[in-house]
Amino acid sequence: MGDVIPLQRRQRRRKQGEGRTLCANGRHRWLLEKGSSFDVSKGRLVTVYRCSRCGERRHEYQ
Ligand SMILES: [Zn+2]
Repeated sequence: MGDVIPLQRRQRRRKQGEGRTLCANGRHRWLLEKGSSFDVSKGRLVTVYRCSRCGERRHEYQ
């Protein structure tokens, strides 16, 4: 029974590692965080996306 928990932990860690590898290669999993809003500093409309794996943000200006 003692081996079960460490095994599950190892599998979960490996899964996260795969995600990081994809992110490191620029293949982020973008999710819409904020719809179009006005960025005052740029004077343009901006849509914000966030990667659900690494938390990186991407700003798309229109
Ligand atoms: Zn990412």
